[in-house]
Amino acid sequence: MPEGPSIVILRDETARFAGRTIAQAEGNSKTVDFSALAGQPVVALRSWGKHFLIQLPTLALRIHLLMFGSYRINERKDAEPRLRLRFDDGDELNFYTCSVKPLPPDLDAQYDWRVDLMSDQWDPKLALKKLRAKPDMLVCDATLDQEIFSGAGNIFKNEVLFRIRVHPLSTVGALSAAKQRELVEQMRVYAFDFLRWKKAYVLKPHWLAHTKRICPRCEIPFLKAHLGKTHRRSFYCERCQKLYTSGAATTPITPARSGSKPRSRKTPPAS
Ligand SMILES: [Zn+2]
Repeated sequence: MPEGPSIVILRDETARFAGRTIAQAEGNSKTVDFSALAGQPVVALRSWGKHFLIQLPTLALRIHLLMFGSYRINERKDAEPRLRLRFDDGDELNFYTCSVKPLPPDLDAQYDWRVDLMSDQWDPKLALKKLRAKPDMLVCDATLDQEIFSGAGNIFKNEVLFRIRVHPLSTVGALSAAKQRELVEQMRVYAFDFLRWKKAYVLKPHWLAHTKRICPRCEIPFLKAHLGKTHRRSFYCERCQKLYTSGAATTPITPARSGSKPRSRKTPPAS
């Protein structure tokens, strides 16, 4: 799935269409009134997380590439586009296997840009506040929460949790304040590492945890599991990624006596 930095690349690649007038629109999207698009100038091309936004005078189009979406600029794939915008000199934008949704034109009224990891308006304090409001949330879900970290995807989750040495089944509230801040900071840092590496076609070689079999720190096998409410693949090391769980006051752990069986760790909430 294209994550936020990939949508920033799309936005940059299409920037030259801003100010141009749509000559013709077509496609197999069921939600778009194509005839209403012709004749409209492109006011702006923007992004919010995984949303690519085409702002026109009377409406905006929200494009989400979902799992398998793609686009072509002045090229066509051997497939029917969901949306094709043609401009008068023959230039065109094609979007495939994506979701296209018309929105009212005033995007500032609909989007909180402070939540977008890639935005100049990104607000880490707001992210921290939102995290702290959900202490029971697992970090593997928090890192994918688009209302906190818009643009983050599964690669972010695996790489950032590995970087900060946090087990994906840790709960947000069990992290120290410093560790919560580190999580927020590293999500932003990773977003721009991702962007830089993706532009240079070297994103995958920089993966340390995502899809990897062996922990590069411990040289032992990573665990792989579909964790949390999001059920996305997690790759993690049980040795160097610490499991932080809230010492739930309702179930105090009896101190183990010498000679007794080792006490078991509090079971993480079922996914
Ligand atoms: Zn390790």
